[in-house]
Amino acid sequence: MLIVMDKSATEKQIDSVVQFIENKGYVARPIPGGDRTAIGVLHNKGAVDASFFLGLEGVKDVVPITRPYKLVSRESQPEDTIIQVGDVSIGNGFMTIIAGPCAIESEVQALTIAEKVKATGAHLFRGGAFKPRTSPYSFQGLGKAGLEILAKVRENIGLPVITEVMDEGTFDLVEEYSDIIQIGTRNMQNFSLLKRAGRAKKPVCLKRGMAATIDEWLMAAEYIMEGGNSQVILCERGVRTFVNHSRNTLDISAVPVVRKESHLPIIIDPSHAAGRRDQVIPLSLASVAVGAHGLMVEVHHEPDKAMSDGAQSLYPDQFESLCEQIASVYNTLFNKA
Ligand code: PEP
Ligand code: MN
Repeated sequence: MLIVMDKSATEKQIDSVVQFIENKGYVARPIPGGDRTAIGVLHNKGAVDASFFLGLEGVKDVVPITRPYKLVSRESQPEDTIIQVGDVSIGNGFMTIIAGPCAIESEVQALTIAEKVKATGAHLFRGGAFKPRTSPYSFQGLGKAGLEILAKVRENIGLPVITEVMDEGTFDLVEEYSDIIQIGTRNMQNFSLLKRAGRAKKPVCLKRGMAATIDEWLMAAEYIMEGGNSQVILCERGVRTFVNHSRNTLDISAVPVVRKESHLPIIIDPSHAAGRRDQVIPLSLASVAVGAHGLMVEVHHEPDKAMSDGAQSLYPDQFESLCEQIASVYNTLFNKA
């Protein structure tokens, strides 16, 4: 249930509605909006009697939320969430490009790629320091040393960074170094990790589980928001199907569905969906056309020598061409003025 406050409601009136909700044994979560505040009523078992709230000062309306995900749903917040990372905005009205290698391999590698992608259109730099690998014998990432290299990228190149957190034990460390914390496909339903992400002070990029429905994905995002962190970015990265012409199948239909159901930004990772570089540019263009708010793309200056995911990493000149093509599609479709 959502309690919609009057435009003119005072802080004191909002606080006393919050107190009233909590005294009834529920959890109140204020959602500040463009011109009024709404307050989500959570943790109710069964229906809540709206008449409790309608008489309170400053309350305009009480609306039931019909979706299983509450804070994530458009019912609770009709306006799009825009996430701000320094000068970079992520959400409706922006086309944010995140680029970089699959894994941080060395300082020279990271700085070389970061310099190239910044010069040609990236707004954020990506790179894994802790890598979730299918085989325990594969490169597992540089760990803390990788995070220190990411800090150098931010400092020397001037790009904010995003990197993956794999477990609760390293969460504090990743949160300290990264501007956006990524939760990977294999951890989308790691509920203790999601709860920790709910207490994070940084935005979280939640990748869709490779076998997750959209409802399950949005419920995972709800864990983070319910924990108090409203800065969640959803990332579609392909789902498992029977095909063998690509690593996964990019579900671009998820974009309009998520945009209708939720106010959260949704970006697309075409690299892990495709698994091969020749599909990355066409899938990126389709992602822009279908309404994604951004892209996360793997780029490597020497993909043949990459320690992970070289086959799907674009060469820097391909990334440059991708950015030009994206700008053209985006401007044609959405920026007509
Ligand atoms: C990644 O982005 O580095 C990654 C491992 O992606 P995913 O979790 O989507 O496989
Ligand atoms: Mn990768």
